[in-house]
Amino acid sequence: MADSNGNSKHENGETKIKAKPRIERNRVLVTGGAGFVGSHLCTYLVERGDHVICVDNFFTGSKENVAHLLGKTNFELIRHDVVEKLLLEVDQIYHLACPASPVHYKYNPIKTIKTSFIGTMNMLGLAKRTRARFLLTSTSEVYGDPLEHPQTEGYWGNVNCIGERSCYDEGKRAAECLTFDYQREHNLEVRVVRIFNTYGPHMALDDGRVVSNFVAQALTGQPLTIYGDGQQTRSFQYVSDLVEGMVRVMDGPYTGPFNIGNPTEFTMLELAQVVKEVVNPDAQIVYKENTADDPSRRKPDISKAKKALGWEPKVALREGLSRMVSDFAKRLGVEAPKVPG
Ligand code: NAD
Ligand code: UDP
Repeated sequence: MADSNGNSKHENGETKIKAKPRIERNRVLVTGGAGFVGSHLCTYLVERGDHVICVDNFFTGSKENVAHLLGKTNFELIRHDVVEKLLLEVDQIYHLACPASPVHYKYNPIKTIKTSFIGTMNMLGLAKRTRARFLLTSTSEVYGDPLEHPQTEGYWGNVNCIGERSCYDEGKRAAECLTFDYQREHNLEVRVVRIFNTYGPHMALDDGRVVSNFVAQALTGQPLTIYGDGQQTRSFQYVSDLVEGMVRVMDGPYTGPFNIGNPTEFTMLELAQVVKEVVNPDAQIVYKENTADDPSRRKPDISKAKKALGWEPKVALREGLSRMVSDFAKRLGVEAPKVPG
């Protein structure tokens, strides 16, 4: 049964939103578009012919990440902080602006939670005024240190709300709450993706996340730094799989939340072994103290996205690492190794 706005419930429990008539060229705002994921998303959207407006305050992103798009008639770059209001006319908003690496989001935690909450509120306000469809990039961190494994979207999470990571975890949880409240109160077309650890070219060299650290360390002959005993797990997704998943969610009929991640799980020790194999077999390993509240396990259950959107990741870890090595080698000014296989 459709409600007065034409929205209905699908048998899988998802809200199916009545589609707006498509306009000829989609005006798409990508906040955080000069960051790692955002720059790949902007490239994808520009190439398919959308008019892309990339907004970024360059906290962790950079102009270099979108340099190849500057000068294209369907691409604009605006320096702006999403904590401040923004007036634009758009049809879709991909809201990514937020530091994502623990090193970066802990650097100024109050700014992180402001970006997550006020930034999301501002972008939802923009979506409400323009009636744009809004997609929030949430995170697997909403599950905290999960007591359910693998994590389904129905799991409510286990987050320390006063810990060092909570500026990010609780910030994203509040952003999700706000997004669904805008849907309920203002009938906004919203979408939410919960992204699991993603890696690839354009990650900042000082990003501090484990894949970029290991790849940079292996390329420069430094020991790979394993925090803790290396038995904690993560599931690593290559960035092109994420972009494909995000676009499917945005253009599809379901609100989500959807887990978008690669379900193949690795311990950090296993990851270090794969990086050695692919990048530098001579790399040593050193153990360092782990950070507070580090989740011990992380693996997405992606059956919901598979069933509703026909999406699943295609790029395995070895393949993805090989694809990011030349970008890292170039930026580090070292020679790229011959990738095995
Ligand atoms: P990133 O740090 O490379 O990109 C974030 C971008 O947002 C940067 O360009 C940064 O300059 C910009 N930004 C930060 N604060 C801003 C502000 N106040 N105003 C405007 N711009 C601002 O990180 P990423 O990995 O590309 O992450 C993108 C999004 O995806 C984030 O929202 C993150 O929470 C989410 N996510 C990413 C991952 C992952 O593994 N990459 C996992 C879960 C969620
Ligand atoms: N980690 C590590 N060495 C590093 C960086 C991170 O062993 O140089 C570990 C970290 O303690 C965590 C995992 O790798 O257990 C993933 O950390 P990352 O910062 O990439 O992302 P998270 O999933 O914690 O947000």
